Amino acid sequence: MSVLAILEQAHGEWRRISWETLAAAQRIATQMGVQPAAAVIGEARELASKRLERAYSVDHPLLRDYTADGYAIALRQLVEKVRPLVVLFPHTYQVRDFAPKLATALGSVLVSDVVSHRVENGQLILTRQLFQGRLNVDIGFRGAPPYLASIQAGAHGVDQVEEGVCQVETFTPELLPNQIRTRPAPPFREAQGAVDLASAERIVCAGRGLQGAENIALLQRLADALGAELAASRPVCDGGWLPAERQVGSSGQTVAPKLYIAVGVSGAIQHLVGMKGSKTIVAINKDADAPIFEIADYGIVGDLFDVVPALADEIRKQARGGS
Ligand SMILES: Cc1cc2nc3c(=O)[nH]c(=O)nc-3n(C[C@H](O)[C@H](O)[C@H](O)COP(=O)(O)OP(=O)(O)OC[C@H]3O[C@@H](n4cnc5c(N)ncnc54)[C@H](O)[C@@H]3O)c2cc1C
Repeated sequence: MSVLAILEQAHGEWRRISWETLAAAQRIATQMGVQPAAAVIGEARELASKRLERAYSVDHPLLRDYTADGYAIALRQLVEKVRPLVVLFPHTYQVRDFAPKLATALGSVLVSDVVSHRVENGQLILTRQLFQGRLNVDIGFRGAPPYLASIQAGAHGVDQVEEGVCQVETFTPELLPNQIRTRPAPPFREAQGAVDLASAERIVCAGRGLQGAENIALLQRLADALGAELAASRPVCDGGWLPAERQVGSSGQTVAPKLYIAVGVSGAIQHLVGMKGSKTIVAINKDADAPIFEIADYGIVGDLFDVVPALADEIRKQARGGS
């Protein structure tokens, strides 16, 4: 029995969330007294240096392009061969597309978007969020394994992956062209962002509390005073107040600057997973109960339209030597 992590690459490159999922698999395996294993549709060479019982490179000409049919059929065969106790996936758009189909084919269910877990009396309990982070729910499995789950970005650290040595095996599934009912279109490519938020040392993030695009200039003044990049929560990008490439969170960029100032951001889990690795987090919010304060190192409860200009002025004054 093992905990099998089925990982993802994009254009031949490992996704960061794949390593986070691998860390989760290693941790859960240890807690459940079983071995971790991993697989990827693609080249698995890099897995040879991880602490795994075995790694699988799933290879077939019909898997060169992603299709839900191809992936679900191939991975079903792999899971039936490996017979793992738990199968973990990174919570990506691709996984959301094929993993429920795979779960159904295996007679199981998929617990998606898992943010944490614990092992109680040998039973795996997974925690996921409901109603946009307002409620946490604990889920245990019944029935026969395998138990399938997808792991939310940021729930585990890439630096938690344990190194080791393992054998990489090529697994070639049996797959016929007529089993694949969709024709793959050219893969979607995200726009090359002009901003690389991931390497920014300081970030000022605009939340919906800013109320409109016309107030972005207010934050830009604070960002300029600090030499910081501007980022945004999803509603700000959805509303076109800032471009999508500046979005931080589970469907945006993951950042870990030295300083992250969240302005008018409530702190939904989808936002937190993208920035909770920041060294120092400052939150400005008029609601003292906003969840963002739970992870903030410094919190300012107040109206951002008062706080932000005062802060920008003070930083400029300090930069000029306090005069
Ligand atoms: C599949 C999925 C993926 C998602 N991906 C992302 C993602 O990548 N990134 C992301 O950010 N979100 C994402 N979301 C959305 C997420 O769930 C939240 O809805 C979003 O993060 C909320 O943004 P916000 O904090 O800016 O807005 P709100 O939740 O509306 O919060 C606004 C905050 O501003 C405060 N405020 C209002 N006026 C003032 C004022 N004058 N002064 C001070 N404070 C004020 C309020 O008290 C409130 O806390 C995703 C959701 C889903 C379902």
